[in-house]
Amino acid sequence: MGTQNYRYVIVGAGLAGVSAAAAIRERDHDGTILLMGAEKHPPYDRPPLSKGLWTGAKNMAMISLHAPAFYDQDGITLALGRRAIGIDARHKTVLDSHGRRVRYEKLLLAPGGAPRRLPIPGEDLEGVCYFRTLDDYIHLREQAVQGRGAVVIGGGFIGSELAAALALSKVDVTMVFPSPYLCSRVFPEGLGRAVQRTYVERGVNVLAGDEPVGIARVRGRLRVRTRAGHEIDSDMVVVGAGIAPQTALAREAGLIRRDGVAVDECLRSSRKDIYAAGDLAAFPCLALGRRLRFEHWDNARAQGQCAGRNMAGRSEPYTHLPYFFSDLFDFGYEAVGDVDPRLETRCEWTEENRTGTVYYLKDGRVRGALMCNVWGKVDAARELILKGEPVRT
Ligand code: NAP
Repeated sequence: MGTQNYRYVIVGAGLAGVSAAAAIRERDHDGTILLMGAEKHPPYDRPPLSKGLWTGAKNMAMISLHAPAFYDQDGITLALGRRAIGIDARHKTVLDSHGRRVRYEKLLLAPGGAPRRLPIPGEDLEGVCYFRTLDDYIHLREQAVQGRGAVVIGGGFIGSELAAALALSKVDVTMVFPSPYLCSRVFPEGLGRAVQRTYVERGVNVLAGDEPVGIARVRGRLRVRTRAGHEIDSDMVVVGAGIAPQTALAREAGLIRRDGVAVDECLRSSRKDIYAAGDLAAFPCLALGRRLRFEHWDNARAQGQCAGRNMAGRSEPYTHLPYFFSDLFDFGYEAVGDVDPRLETRCEWTEENRTGTVYYLKDGRVRGALMCNVWGKVDAARELILKGEPVRT
């Protein structure tokens, strides 16, 4: 089979990859584009998998990133179910899981991340779901029937959102996570404990400060044993223990520094024809003054757009300060900047731990903001962070 040539090859048909393809096409009307995705579904939006699809705010038809005709009309070759497995940066080729080799002029690495596996026996049993994809949603949704039991492992984004989603579906939910309270990487303690209480009030059994040590199949059900000695029998186990960016390809090309592809402010790697965007890209965040990776929707979208424009000839720095959002029962939030609870926090509540804004401060300046049940304030918060003016005491 001969090697096909494309002007642009994009590895990863998630939000970063799709946004890049669209941005390239806006600037380069003729250059051939190959968009390669490992999943078989046409590109979709991931946040509703653990939020809106459960509450009814979204349905399956609403989560496609584009109508199928978009790719044809824009001359974007969409290769689904094809995983890139090798890269030869010297000859500028990518090898895929079907044994096909394609040549690129410009390459974007936007493969996203893969769930971290639990280091415990039984973690790979059938019925243990490392939740990430549309197939995971479809499978879990079929299982989530009133009266069944679920153990949700992890108290971060996936754990907190799915525990709420499953409880809304009247599944008996037990959560297990090591930190002392829910969403401890984002919420200050008072807020985290208050939100956790609402889970308990909604019937969720929360085992905070504990962790699973083994999973076994016992009489047709899954038994999770924890370090504190609990044994929970359930019909499904859902894991959200973080992700690791998909580094294998980039590693082969010598582009990995620590756990990501180090890119410059234009999202270009140390090889001038290879760019990275989304979960994998370790970029110099101009607003926060340090190199970081950001594993959220808005970053994938904006970085994909920026990388696409630059691949098609621009040299635009990535200056966007991304935000993220979540819905946990009737508590929703939007967050922007450095929302690290180890920073000094200042809360402005209209209703304590429910409605208001938490500011995260460093050296007397706002570095991040968490807007709880307050909407439409992200731009103002971003501006405050970017201004970097001292906060009045
Ligand atoms: P996450 O937010 O990093 O949370 C990981 C959780 O797993 C933490 O609670 C952590 O506990 C826990 N954990 C780690 N090792 C564990 C173990 N051995 N046993 C039990 N718990 C363990 O990651 P995630 O929730 O899996 O989310 C995956 C990715 O999807 C992230 O990149 C996230 O940004 C993205 N996502 C984002 C959103 C959103 O923006 N709303 C929603 C869904 C997913 P400790 O904190 O105590 O270590």
